[in-house]
Amino acid sequence: CGIVGYIGFREAWPIVIKGLKRLEYRGYDSAGIALIGESGLNIYKKAGKVVELENFAEGRDQGGSIGMGHTRWATHGAPSDRNSHPHTSNDGRLSIIHNGIIENYATIKEELEKRGHFFNSDTDTEVLIHLIEEIYKNDHNDLLEAVRLALHEVSGAYAIVVMDKANPDQLIAARKGSPMVIGVGEGEYFIASDATPIVEYTKNVIYLKDNDIAFLKRDELSIKRLDNVVQTPYIQELEMKL
Ligand code: GLU
Repeated sequence: CGIVGYIGFREAWPIVIKGLKRLEYRGYDSAGIALIGESGLNIYKKAGKVVELENFAEGRDQGGSIGMGHTRWATHGAPSDRNSHPHTSNDGRLSIIHNGIIENYATIKEELEKRGHFFNSDTDTEVLIHLIEEIYKNDHNDLLEAVRLALHEVSGAYAIVVMDKANPDQLIAARKGSPMVIGVGEGEYFIASDATPIVEYTKNVIYLKDNDIAFLKRDELSIKRLDNVVQTPYIQELEMKL
């Protein structure tokens, strides 16, 4: 139900946690965070409140200047630790957070199971990251292209962020039917479901449009549409007060 992402030069953990708390008003049943730091990819997720996630992750490795967090409002699969986001690919390399519903997930899941995929959750979301993985491995060496092609296969609504632990210098975000805002800083970007987690860091934002896919590096952003047409990012100034 809520999404927060960060890539930049600061520690991601406090930014993401604070952002998730700002999105609590939207309602949720579980929360989770993925970060890439010195020790690699770390994922913490818990059914319950954000504060329970904080308690759970206390004393564990929270380092990393790239990360993403999610508050879940379960649509497919009961609220539980294992159904909480982020979800990962079969090989554990890719991770995803997702707001919305992948309507045709059952058909895709069946197909992927035939190809040897096993699933750790009952969610529609996990199917999407496995599909991205499958396309990435078989046809392309380009994650952005794999995300784009995978999104062509799904019906439903989504705002997603995808992270690759082998490439800790990039985030991919996309949306259709679920809102998503990108905060533009200097050497850093913020991603969120609405501007509330972003306002304290920057007033420059880009509202992603339906069918947009954003590719973010620390000092570079590009947007294309699902049909592969490159978009010129339109940066707006927020008028929101803190
Ligand atoms: N459909 C997904 C799930 O049930 C995402 C729900 C949400 O928007 O939080 O896990």
